Amino acid sequence: MVRIRSRFASLGQAPAVKTQQLQVQLVVPYPVLRVFLQHTGAGFVVVRNIFTNLAGPEGKKATLKALSSAEESREGKVSHSDEEWHKLLAPAAYRILRQAGTELPFSSPLEKEKRKGTFVCAGCGHHVYRSETKFDSGTGWPSFWKPVDGGIKQTRDGSIKFLPRTEVRCSQCEGHLGHVFNDGPPPTGLRFCMNGAAMGFKADSA
Ligand SMILES: [Zn+2]
Repeated sequence: MVRIRSRFASLGQAPAVKTQQLQVQLVVPYPVLRVFLQHTGAGFVVVRNIFTNLAGPEGKKATLKALSSAEESREGKVSHSDEEWHKLLAPAAYRILRQAGTELPFSSPLEKEKRKGTFVCAGCGHHVYRSETKFDSGTGWPSFWKPVDGGIKQTRDGSIKFLPRTEVRCSQCEGHLGHVFNDGPPPTGLRFCMNGAAMGFKADSA
């Protein structure tokens, strides 16, 4: 059991503004914390950055905000009612694309897909990634360093308040595909961490 207890005080520095206090307390077994962080696709880099920011030099204070988990509409150019999506999609794809779920790592065959081809949105068939931009991130999720031009859109995801992330959606049906992080390989330095069950694959030879 590892106990992490951090208390961040005096976050608000504006004069005559009441001192704000934010208390972050995690009391979880270490393996659970580790799996959770990997499950979020964030890894330890994000957490390290959070704590670096909090304890950073020059009196840099935490900028953690209580991000609203504003649920932007998932109505896109390809649009169906929730009932229709239910019928159209496999249960796993529905849970990810329409409810922003996350599959278990190493659960999708697309994680190991090595052929040349295009990864498409499982909801609408929109082209989202090319095989040339896929890399082995070791996370257990299909990972890419660049999307197809116009394939995806990015929105802010504040559903985990102390771990703000950038959500990746299909630009055509607004289906949730995964998240993007800043710890990817060159040339972009980005890691688009995708759910395989939210995508399909079309081999070039097919
Ligand atoms: Zn789509």
